[in-house]
Amino acid sequence: VADVPALLPVVGSDTLVPLVDGSSVTYANLDVAASAPALRSVADRVTEVLPLYASVHRGAGYLSQVSTALYEASRATIGVFVGARPDDVTIVTRNTTDSLNLLAGCVPARADGTPGRVLVLDVEHHANLLPWQRTGGATVLAGGGSVAETLSGLRAELARFDYALLALTGASNVTGESLPVAEVVRIAHDAGARVLLDGAQLVPHRGFSLAGTGADYVAFSGHKTYAPFGSGALVGRRDWLDTGTPYLAGGGAVSQVRVDGTDWQPAPARHEAGSPNVVGTVALAAACDALAALDPAALGAHEAALRDALVDGLSGIDGVEVVTVWSDAVDPVGVVTFSVAGHDPGLVAAYLSAEHGIGVRDGRFCAHPLLARLGYDAGAIRASVGVGTTGAEVVRLVGAVRSYVESGPGVRYEVVDGCWAV
Ligand code: PMP
Repeated sequence: VADVPALLPVVGSDTLVPLVDGSSVTYANLDVAASAPALRSVADRVTEVLPLYASVHRGAGYLSQVSTALYEASRATIGVFVGARPDDVTIVTRNTTDSLNLLAGCVPARADGTPGRVLVLDVEHHANLLPWQRTGGATVLAGGGSVAETLSGLRAELARFDYALLALTGASNVTGESLPVAEVVRIAHDAGARVLLDGAQLVPHRGFSLAGTGADYVAFSGHKTYAPFGSGALVGRRDWLDTGTPYLAGGGAVSQVRVDGTDWQPAPARHEAGSPNVVGTVALAAACDALAALDPAALGAHEAALRDALVDGLSGIDGVEVVTVWSDAVDPVGVVTFSVAGHDPGLVAAYLSAEHGIGVRDGRFCAHPLLARLGYDAGAIRASVGVGTTGAEVVRLVGAVRSYVESGPGVRYEVVDGCWAV
């Protein structure tokens, strides 16, 4: 795998990291599931549009017209990228968390006025758990065992109550695993429930189609999709979004304001009060364009090669255990979580950074219920790859974990203000 090149160029891949022994080394970014570096083409697009931005939707000046056109064209590109149906709506948000909180305000109440019921699995990132918990309509079901067992658990639970929505991860941010989306959608729709897919980890890695899978909504983040921070999207069925609680109250979301009441716009304007992030939205659209231009088979093969090398390499080290939710999930994305028996995950991560210049994530990955159920209350270590990752970086990580297990850290690390320091 050492000679697998990056699939697309990203910025920052030549960053030099100072090591604890005073030398330096090129950064190996194996934390792209947290935030992925911008594609070179996205960075170029940002440079191109930066001089052009101005007030969107409201100004009569030339640059306002240009910015409005760029913003609306980007919205269209983002919708096409996730296979939106012609009557779906694309709402530009800040990130996945924003998108899911927005949708939580739009799930219709039940006939008796109680919150619409939402079914979630306990494998979810907190962003796809807490918004539903807060509405008071959430039921959390344990996922795991075989895929078939989880599907039949979902089927049984959906038959018990009048669920409005099943909110499901597209790919776990802990293990990279997925349930078969089209099949889940059939099960939910048969029971009269809609499906929201948390696409934060799926969309950048595999591509996704609302029309192709039949899912009703998808949420994802620009900063995990090779664009800078600050843009994301919620795409899906128009009716709930046209009538739900406006996400933010303010200018742009209204058609008429009186001192005694307000008429709100339909979606998307209804949920986009305030001046929008034009540059971030254009950047996200540029990332969508670049990913859409890739051959899906090449994207899948690149990631599978890197993921397999990570899983095989790490599992071959004494005391290292790779975490999974399901016994038979198919085609996981390039997110691999592991533990090193008897060692604090924070210490291992600090060692990887300070002695090898490798960036990984440690902790509980905003998925406390899952980590608790799997017995990793003390956390674990996550390595993740993307289109800018090379096989050499994966080889470096596996070699560094092996050195850690065989020889231990070269220096003593301590916790200072929540961070590891030498
Ligand atoms: N869902 C999943 C599966 C994620 O991986 C993340 C980010 N770790 C989120 C939701 C939240 O994304 P954001 O922080 O961009 O809102």
